[in-house]
Amino acid sequence: MQGLFRVAVLPGDGIGPEVVAEAVKVLKAVEEVQGPLFLFQEGLIGGCAVDATAVPLPAETISICNNSHAILLGAVGGPQWDNKRPEVRPEQGLLQLRQRLGLYVNLRPAKVLDSLVGISSLKPDIVRGTDLVIVRELLGGIYFGNPRGIFARDGERIGINTEVYREHEIERVAHRAFQLARVRRNHVTSVDKANVLESSRLWREVVTRIGRSYPDVQLDHLYVDNCAMQLIEKPTRFDVILTSNMFGDILSDESAVLSGSIGLLPSASLGERYALYEPIHGSAPDIAGRKRANPVAAIACGAMMLRYSCRMEAAAQAIEAAIERVLKRGVRTADFPGRSRPVSTSRMGDLIAIEVKRILKSGQQATHPRKKR
Ligand code: NAD
Repeated sequence: MQGLFRVAVLPGDGIGPEVVAEAVKVLKAVEEVQGPLFLFQEGLIGGCAVDATAVPLPAETISICNNSHAILLGAVGGPQWDNKRPEVRPEQGLLQLRQRLGLYVNLRPAKVLDSLVGISSLKPDIVRGTDLVIVRELLGGIYFGNPRGIFARDGERIGINTEVYREHEIERVAHRAFQLARVRRNHVTSVDKANVLESSRLWREVVTRIGRSYPDVQLDHLYVDNCAMQLIEKPTRFDVILTSNMFGDILSDESAVLSGSIGLLPSASLGERYALYEPIHGSAPDIAGRKRANPVAAIACGAMMLRYSCRMEAAAQAIEAAIERVLKRGVRTADFPGRSRPVSTSRMGDLIAIEVKRILKSGQQATHPRKKR
């Protein structure tokens, strides 16, 4: 087993296990062509972990993750756990894991495939050709800064949160964004609110300084309100968007709308040593167990894992090309509007796995609009 890439598989709750099974199926299809590559080890997280162990992130799961090169996660949560005390809520498992593993940058690609321009809520002419990545700082900013809380002052309550950024936190995420831009279209847009916030002024100053080490990458700055507008007016103008924790949270959900279905989009959270890959969607309790979940986001997480953790670019591109080909043939799961005969979750996984093997066997370089990785 030595030399294999260790993957912690944390399916979680709701549709998590259904979509993660398809991601693993497709990674095994890669192995069928290229020989043994992965050692998968499953662990509990979220509501299923609460039920089995009374905590959302059991020690055994932490140990599996610590001993893995990458983590493939489904989703956590569901109404049956909504009334639990905050510390035993499923989401806590995920938050704790991100913090423990030092995952300070979140990558959220938003790409609109030509075959799917029609399903976006925006006009085809606006979204066609969209291919951007949001690089969001994940461990700093207002979600973590102190002081925070609700206090009594002068006879009434006040709520306080504090946006804090240290220079090194901005530097490390900025480096990631510039490095990513170098293997895409060499353009970083840094997003802040420097006209109002001191933390943003520091952000802009540090990003500008780091940008001087990447003279081949074009850098521009946008205020967050302007960026929110341009994302839906002219999404094709963006390549890499670099931003803080809260702005990234909001902008990445906005960018998810561009592609048309929440079931298509993967994400990666990266630290110095660990990496976690998860679809952007939640556990979708309304469709769990009904074979209606779209596994494409989870399968695309597998491609991101191959790219960023395994450095297996050709296999990553093969998965992305397989997804694109299957969708181009008109194969659809039930989340796409207007399908009378959608395929099941596992059928979609089967078809993508078959296509991946075909691409890898033919040694074809998957077509990809980006320059290089
Ligand atoms: P959700 O993403 O689970 O679902 C929103 C809608 O999108 C639902 O109608 C759902 O059926 C649909 N949907 C989501 N993923 C789909 C897929 N792959 N294929 C087809 N349809 C899909 O968001 P929600 O309903 O707000 O939350 C449900 C639960 O998930 C909550 O408990 C929430 O806390 C949790 N959640 C978890 C994560 C995570 O694990 N990272 C993220 C968001 C929400």
